[in-house]
Amino acid sequence: MLSKRLDKISPSCTIGISSKVKEMKKSGVDVINLSIGEPDFNVPREAIECGIKSLNENCTKYDLVPGITILREEICKKLLLENNCKYSIDEIVLASGAKDAITNTLLAVTDPGDEILIPKPYWVSYWEMTKLVNATPVAIETNKNNDFKLTADLLRKYITDKTKLLILNNPSNPTGSVYTKEELSEIVNVCLEKNIYILADEIYERICYNNEFVSVASLGNNVKDITITVNGFAKSAAMTGLRLGYTASNKKIAQGMSSIQGHLVSHPSLTAQYIGYGALKYCKEDIDNMVKTYKKRRDLITSRLNKMKYVDYIYPNGAFYVFIDLSQVAKKYKYNKSFSIEFCDEFLSKYKVAIVPGQAFGIDEYVRISYACSENEFIEGLNRLEEFILKIMDNCN
Ligand code: PMP
Ligand code: GLU
Repeated sequence: MLSKRLDKISPSCTIGISSKVKEMKKSGVDVINLSIGEPDFNVPREAIECGIKSLNENCTKYDLVPGITILREEICKKLLLENNCKYSIDEIVLASGAKDAITNTLLAVTDPGDEILIPKPYWVSYWEMTKLVNATPVAIETNKNNDFKLTADLLRKYITDKTKLLILNNPSNPTGSVYTKEELSEIVNVCLEKNIYILADEIYERICYNNEFVSVASLGNNVKDITITVNGFAKSAAMTGLRLGYTASNKKIAQGMSSIQGHLVSHPSLTAQYIGYGALKYCKEDIDNMVKTYKKRRDLITSRLNKMKYVDYIYPNGAFYVFIDLSQVAKKYKYNKSFSIEFCDEFLSKYKVAIVPGQAFGIDEYVRISYACSENEFIEGLNRLEEFILKIMDNCN
């Protein structure tokens, strides 16, 4: 009796594991949560004050569909200053999280049957969102030797006359890989040549450790015209639960997204928008400090991983994840259907550490660890991971 749409999709694995951990904690089990990408910082104080002030001034009524003007102005300033991209406020559409911004994009740009190219490994929801809008997800097989980054040559192989859009996530969840300007330029040239839109998911842009972040839309006016940049406040300003994201695109696409949003959600929560405004306007230093902490954690976690036997990993230059190659372990581990799902289940039930199976990102011999948590937690989590791996490998020798 329910929609056939539901048969096509699975629930979000990242959200699922994190909810399970919450239940376990509620029932008194002490679990280390290295699963979900959720900053352990609080939203910076000055941003919160902006939200409180807006409530005190009764800013609680319906407002403009694409978002409050002062926030869109602030986003335009940020895009110009930090990303070298000139947008006007009618090219910005606020949304209830980057997820919602991606959904708005897919609804505005694609038709049923269009092919959407998604380099693998990919963030869990791209695949399911694509199916939800009745488009066809096409995974691009990337190469571990190139940190699983897309290249222009690979891209060309997957383009058909049905290809409509490429989803490019930079810095990447789950690998933490960051694209150079040259790499991006080669990719966008193919998109320009073949008339393909680019959804540039840049939600981790601030969390980039070598000051090398390049926004796709900055690569030229013709590139900007075919690019829908998605960004949000969840990662940079630790505003996960407040649900605020946005797109920057050409005016026509922005108008299309506004029409859609006007029917679906009207606009994201006003209070969240005022907090987002505060985060952009007043909290750059707080955000920079968070990034410094993530970098310290990245250094710690990678030096600990370097000492572990039977594991390899993609060295992360951005975001707050490590994508760990357990293919040596997978050869020895007894499983039925999916190595990574069964491995992560056993690890959680026996060692009380939650991590995300690579299967959720399209590659089964990997697991993802988030280091958006305290040092003690991820070091203890890795100690237990080492213990589990050694037990598996020793039992087989
Ligand atoms: N894109 C990527 C790559 C993500 O990892 C996430 C997860 N937060 C999102 C988009 C969605 O972000 P939001 O919480 O703002 O919806
Ligand atoms: N994007 C984060 C993650 O990958 C948060 C959970 C989600 O929205 O998928 O863990």
